[in-house]
Amino acid sequence: MAGTTLKTEAVVLRSIRYGEADRILHLYSASKGRIGAIAKGARRPKSRFGGRLEPFFRLNLVLHEGRGELLTVTSVATVDGYPRLRASGPALNAAARACDAVLRLLDSTEPNPPAYNLLCRYLAMLDEPTAPRASGLETALAFRLKLALASGFAPELAACTSCGEADHLTGFSGAAGGVVCAGCEAGSFPLSEEAHGFMVAAIGSPLAAAPSADAQALRQVERAVGETLEHHAHVQLRSAA
Ligand SMILES: [Zn+2]
Repeated sequence: MAGTTLKTEAVVLRSIRYGEADRILHLYSASKGRIGAIAKGARRPKSRFGGRLEPFFRLNLVLHEGRGELLTVTSVATVDGYPRLRASGPALNAAARACDAVLRLLDSTEPNPPAYNLLCRYLAMLDEPTAPRASGLETALAFRLKLALASGFAPELAACTSCGEADHLTGFSGAAGGVVCAGCEAGSFPLSEEAHGFMVAAIGSPLAAAPSADAQALRQVERAVGETLEHHAHVQLRSAA
């Protein structure tokens, strides 16, 4: 076969049945960012790929890069299948939303180690026996903020995005991409101190130490991240919970 061989670790973001027995995979890889691949014969009962080509599996892959757009999977080994995550509805739901966010936000073939490691860490947390906290809205929003940061779209949180004022930050503007002060609040929505504090703390802490906030603050955070990504990355995320 002509072409080159690529060995990489990757997480399955989406797995689609294709043709009679194949699967098309949307992968987020450690060394090449987003990859599309085809696994031929993957749905045959005795396929050498086994059941590993399902969403959320973290795999070691060997892929063949031919002339087409899709790479061809030639071998697969499991790094982690996250079996406990798969047994929990809330954890599955959180993992699906996380993979969907990666799918929408990170479409380049440039490797992004912070984003890849963040996704793997979140999946591992959702697979822990103490997952209720990990599958909650706070951790989901902390993940989104960190993913926005890793992809270069973190909201400005330190000073008014319009005038640089560091006090009286009372609003958030998706178009401006950050917090705004009382004097610049045209086109913004109100952002509570608690919501602002949540975003600062979530970006500054490990994912496992996501801060807490009340429901109203979390709604504001979700809106702030969502509108920033809409305006600046031109992607729309599904609701976080
Ligand atoms: Zn201002």
